[in-house]
Amino acid sequence: MNPDLPPQVDLAIIGGGINGAGLAALAAHSGLSVALLEKDDFASGTSSKSTKLIHGGIRYLELANFALVFEALHERSHLLRLAPHLVRPLAFLLPVYQGDKRPAWMLKMGLWLYDLLAGIHNIRRHQWFSAPETLAFAPNLRAEGLKGCGLYYDAQVNDARLVLENILSAEQAGAWCLNYHEVLAVKNEGGDQAELLLRDRSTGESRRLKASCLVNAAGPWANRVHSLLAPQGKPLVRPTRGSHLVVDQVLPDKALLITTRGDNRVIFVIPWRGYSLVGTTDLDDEGDPDKTAPTEEEIRYLLGEASRLFPGQSWDRAKVLAAFSGLRPLAWTEKGSASSVSREDRFLIEGKCVTIVGGKLTTYRAMARKALKACARILNRPLKPLPFSLPGAPQTPWEDFEKASLAQWPERYGIHPEQAAHLARLYGQKAQSVLELTLADPALKEKLDESRPEILAQVVYAVREEKAVHLGDVMLRRLEIGYTPARLGSAPEKASRLLAQLLHWDEPRRQKELADYQTFLFPRP
Ligand SMILES: Cc1cc2nc3c(=O)[nH]c(=O)nc-3n(C[C@H](O)[C@H](O)[C@H](O)COP(=O)(O)OP(=O)(O)OC[C@H]3O[C@@H](n4cnc5c(N)ncnc54)[C@H](O)[C@@H]3O)c2cc1C
Repeated sequence: MNPDLPPQVDLAIIGGGINGAGLAALAAHSGLSVALLEKDDFASGTSSKSTKLIHGGIRYLELANFALVFEALHERSHLLRLAPHLVRPLAFLLPVYQGDKRPAWMLKMGLWLYDLLAGIHNIRRHQWFSAPETLAFAPNLRAEGLKGCGLYYDAQVNDARLVLENILSAEQAGAWCLNYHEVLAVKNEGGDQAELLLRDRSTGESRRLKASCLVNAAGPWANRVHSLLAPQGKPLVRPTRGSHLVVDQVLPDKALLITTRGDNRVIFVIPWRGYSLVGTTDLDDEGDPDKTAPTEEEIRYLLGEASRLFPGQSWDRAKVLAAFSGLRPLAWTEKGSASSVSREDRFLIEGKCVTIVGGKLTTYRAMARKALKACARILNRPLKPLPFSLPGAPQTPWEDFEKASLAQWPERYGIHPEQAAHLARLYGQKAQSVLELTLADPALKEKLDESRPEILAQVVYAVREEKAVHLGDVMLRRLEIGYTPARLGSAPEKASRLLAQLLHWDEPRRQKELADYQTFLFPRP
């Protein structure tokens, strides 16, 4: 158990996904004493299993949800400025085919409205292209029946590192953020404070923590956490499962938005770390959130839809390098299909506890502000949210920062320009702290695998500065490379050997870490 954790705090947050992390950072920078408890690793829940988009959500226009789109488009522009190393503009193709349920005029109107709602915050105005022009962008796209396509812009995010940077920022402002600490019980009756029973999952130790205000930011686990407070309580979230496939890259620098044929949904094909992500599904899932995994039926569905658009390639099961699932913690309703459930956020106050449900990664800052307001009511204290920056955010515009990094780091640290670019993207201005490790110990410049840019220093940095405890924390969420185990060469072996030295693992423990880290990727029997 972390010895520095005090016996009581103003605010205790259960859950270290984007909502818990965003609120912890905002509340700590606004002067509250904050403890955040996460039962696994930060972002190991839904917040690292998203489609990794910071977007207005063009499909919500169809549901006339203009307020949601407007808020998200504004947040998109703030995030592009606040975290330019983690949030990058991305071009989207929106093809239209003969017989599509949404005809070209409807898509054109939607794109026009999307630009209008973004206003001065727009990345770039949309354009419309004929079928031959579309095929010039995407030669492998199905030509038969193609009427043309729209081209518009949204943004792509490194979701797990966005969570991490909020956690680190919260700690800079004095918060205690503990991963692998599970909240087992909560007392929220009478008295001035709620009382939590915590268990350190690494040591098995337990202890109590008192808090004047408690936030349930447990995402798809929110019903479970709520039942600790109110055993007979009604469900607060309706978890819906979304699954993604990782396949070899289909389109290098543009994303694609597809209208599915059978159920008229929208799915994406997104360029991601040299691969393509295909997703997502949207299915009610009442099962154990710890065991969420894609089914073979979902995999078949996504392969089928993608194969319709890219007929020249084989889209059989062997194409799937990995598949993973997350659960959307949507506000509870009994009505409607999974994909029709509102994505809007809600803040439910009971006694000293606020439960956060719904929302999106994109709007996490707005959600943190609303949650802080609810906490201020419970604490009966005026709280003014103060602006703060994320630890990796460069002090100069991104283009200048990237140019300077590429010009200076290869010579100063003896690395390849490709590695300088990779480190700048992943860590922003903190990349130099990673590289400084190699000045003290040049052996840390060794690559994890000859085919990849990652170096050993990143593993050391993940443990010393980024709270990584297991191999999975490093491979999946600090370096974000573990999604394609078969393509990693020596990386898992080298990373696990270094972690064994740093964290004093014996050989059986190292082997267990190697076996454990990829278990969530594939459907389990
Ligand atoms: C498939 C999919 C795609 C998506 N794509 C996008 C997208 O592209 N863009 C976008 O803006 N949004 C997207 N979203 C929505 C977005 O990802 C979620 O709204 C958001 O990540 C939810 O974050 P959270 O913090 O509420 O939950 P989580 O990230 O799940 O965090 C909750 C945490 O609580 C912890 N916890 C649970 N119980 C306890 C306990 N007892 N003690 C301590 N800790 C506990 C869990 O371990 C977990 O880490 C997507 C969602 C899904 C499912």
